[in-house]
Amino acid sequence: INPFGHLHIENSFADDLPARFYTRLETQPLTNPRLLHVNKDVAHALGLREPDLESPTFLEVVSGSEPLPGGQTLAAVYSGHQFGVWAGQLGDGRAHLLGEISTDAGPQELQLKGSGLTPYSRMGDGRAVVRSSVREYLAGEAMAGLGIPTTRALSLVVADDPVYRETQEAAAVVTRVAPSFVRFGTFEHWAQDPDSLKLLLRYVVPRFYPQCLAAQESAQSDLSRDTILRFLKEVVVKSARLVADWQTCGFCHGVMNTDNMSILGITLDYGPYGFMDGFRINHVCNHTDTHGRYAWNVQPAVMHWNLYRLASSLTALGLESDELKTQLQVFEGAFLQAYQGNLVRKFGWLSWHEQDQDLVDEWWRLLHTQSADFTLSFRRLATALDQPESFFALFDEPAPAREWLEQYRQRVQFDGRSEADRVTQMLSANPLYVLRNHLAQQAIDAAEKDDASVIDALMTVLRDPYTERAGFEAYAQAAPEWARHLEVSCSS
Ligand code: AMP
Ligand code: MG
Ligand code: MG
Repeated sequence: INPFGHLHIENSFADDLPARFYTRLETQPLTNPRLLHVNKDVAHALGLREPDLESPTFLEVVSGSEPLPGGQTLAAVYSGHQFGVWAGQLGDGRAHLLGEISTDAGPQELQLKGSGLTPYSRMGDGRAVVRSSVREYLAGEAMAGLGIPTTRALSLVVADDPVYRETQEAAAVVTRVAPSFVRFGTFEHWAQDPDSLKLLLRYVVPRFYPQCLAAQESAQSDLSRDTILRFLKEVVVKSARLVADWQTCGFCHGVMNTDNMSILGITLDYGPYGFMDGFRINHVCNHTDTHGRYAWNVQPAVMHWNLYRLASSLTALGLESDELKTQLQVFEGAFLQAYQGNLVRKFGWLSWHEQDQDLVDEWWRLLHTQSADFTLSFRRLATALDQPESFFALFDEPAPAREWLEQYRQRVQFDGRSEADRVTQMLSANPLYVLRNHLAQQAIDAAEKDDASVIDALMTVLRDPYTERAGFEAYAQAAPEWARHLEVSCSS
């Protein structure tokens, strides 16, 4: 029986784009693959039912042992700028696109990560380790729970095959789900080839940015210059909003290379990412990033720079650099609007006033100076006017926090809204649970013993991180001492 048999499978990436955009191939099966975890939310959204997930064919497909029935397995080519430097051709070096499932929410592509060698593997082995796969699996749920656009994961498979990184680890495969895995780097790859660029635009714009099309315009012919400019502007706006969401939940992507930037403005490619524990304005989550290129406070500027690389790749279409620049200039306004909107909700205000910038700057300074916990500082601020003790407890030196809180009290009085309203808003905008590195590490340690219980518990709280749950107190704590030494790197 085919668990995917009742679903509508398409292969539009393969069908609508010529063969130079990808390589058709087979996955490389793993030894003794086990389905460690299935994401039931994602499965249901795809139309998969409970018995489907228990079928042996389901495991065969999500472990890379058999192709998706009705799908066409392929690895896509792309290029990119890595750490600011043009890296040339990259591509799916260990990922396989299986096909796409039509859902009520539009097409959803299934992609395996860690499923074997491809023509784009370069020096890599085509594999992913359990450690990084658990982190990727959980990260999508954490983001989705926060309401931040993201790829999500359907399943996590572990296997016996050894994978050599700094030490020997075990192999795993994550099945990722997104409407598309096209990246800025996919466009950069074709920057010298106008015909291919036009085909790529005809694939991406009508499917994912139909609002940019002019009346009567369709994918059957080349898109007009105006449409392409409108498209670029939309990508700029979406990407600006995305990075604003990252900033206000303390998320650091870790590897904001252009090959990891989704053309849909969703968070893509979870490697050495981090949700900050103690706040540092220039926090670098990726141990490999020794120059701090992707530090928290530079993420917006890096996103803007990445968008310049995307725009540059369109110059071969005869678009003037002035026209492209005009679209790129939308970034700052879009970012600030989203960022300030997020802060208004997080601080429990009614709207943004220009003077608020000072109070926000002081807030970041307060947290930074004392390395106060990002998530808990916001969360406990909700009730700090009534119960200041648990808020002050987050600071080694409470006096500056006390001073700041006094200014905050005045700001809140200026709004004049009811306390209950403000607290309710703040508790629904400031999560109690966040995917801290040490929690991910506990999930990894268990997963390496075939135990998915920590993943299960984390999924429960991360899906709805605003609601306090009895029995999950351990997941709402700041990082313990041992976790301060945890390092994550590009090794995955
Ligand atoms: P990343 O830094 O994970 O975004 O990967 C950058 C590039 O290296 C992409 O083309 C990946 O597909 C490729 N890559 C990363 N790890 C491996 C691996 N173990 N085997 C093959 N390719 C890899
Ligand atoms: Mg497709
Ligand atoms: Mg990548």
